[in-house]
Amino acid sequence: MNKLNSIKYPLLSWYDLNKRDLPWRLSVDGQYLDPYKVLVSEVMLQQTTVSAAIKYFKNFIEKWPNIELLASASEDEIINAWAGLGYYARARNLLKCAKIIANDFQGNFPQDINLLKKLPGIGDYTSAAIMSIAFNKQSDAVDVNIERVISRLFALQSSNLSYNKKMVRDIVFQLTSGNRPGDVLQSLMDVGSLICSAKNCTCTICPLEKKCMSLKQDIISQIPIKGKKVSRGEKIGTLYLITRRDGAYLLRKRPSKGLLGGTVEFPGTNWEDTAMIVNKNKYLKSNNLHYSELGVIKHTFSHFYLTLSIVGKIIFESEKDFMSPFSLDKCFWVLPEEFHKYGFSSLMKKAMQYI
Ligand code: SF4
Repeated sequence: MNKLNSIKYPLLSWYDLNKRDLPWRLSVDGQYLDPYKVLVSEVMLQQTTVSAAIKYFKNFIEKWPNIELLASASEDEIINAWAGLGYYARARNLLKCAKIIANDFQGNFPQDINLLKKLPGIGDYTSAAIMSIAFNKQSDAVDVNIERVISRLFALQSSNLSYNKKMVRDIVFQLTSGNRPGDVLQSLMDVGSLICSAKNCTCTICPLEKKCMSLKQDIISQIPIKGKKVSRGEKIGTLYLITRRDGAYLLRKRPSKGLLGGTVEFPGTNWEDTAMIVNKNKYLKSNNLHYSELGVIKHTFSHFYLTLSIVGKIIFESEKDFMSPFSLDKCFWVLPEEFHKYGFSSLMKKAMQYI
């Protein structure tokens, strides 16, 4: 425990002087952070960088300053506010969480990790982070920054990755015992982000320099030990920018569940796995007959690369006579000046450059 205190106190002293000024870190009473803001920020930060999340967070809190107001929002409104942030299931789950907390807990945040874990989209990490950051409770919350700092600090280099992860969680749990558990977690996050980053370490200004075993052993670049990279597949498809006489574009809403769920898109073909297609050019040409070719956009998802051929057409004849390659049932027309009212993903925003 003495050894951990000799890490904890320099860390907290450094944090008091150097912590990042983040909008979810504004205290409500000088001691505790607002659990609602901690929840929104932690859900946004699952799979999103701090710099990308800040603008969305501010906009979100301006629209819905408390959990009751969020609970009364519609799914479309939430998806619109989330558009461009990706992983839209997070937004839908956040809305479900707000409804449960507002209705079942009368707006009072559950301060029990087992109750938090039962909320939609709140897993082990997020529940533990909320317990420490919002309620000052001991926890073993470990994000990528914390994992990197602790792994380097203790030179964890077992080839058994689960063992390393468990060691990191155990160390964090001990470090967050006693006073200021939330600040301990956030100081580790800040050291990981500002000083001990994945590519560059500025050990000379690190509050942990004197204790760092990786630095002593000169093995920083090898830690944390990484698992094998999963290779991403490739998919292709066609996106149709269909415009009407008055300049309106044909749009549709994606199903609520699944990739980009609930966002609005220009209609298109299904995305096909390139491994299943013998001749990609021929495949695209056969889909794109009768349309003007406008260009190509590329997008990277966590598990595949996507290439979309963008084609366009102006419909002069009656909509009913339009031979559409997709069902028009769920489609609707929107003028470009009204686009801001709809939740487009960053993929669709790339396609808009061809409008
Ligand atoms: S001394 Fe260097 S490697 Fe060690 S925790 Fe600090 S920045 Fe990271």
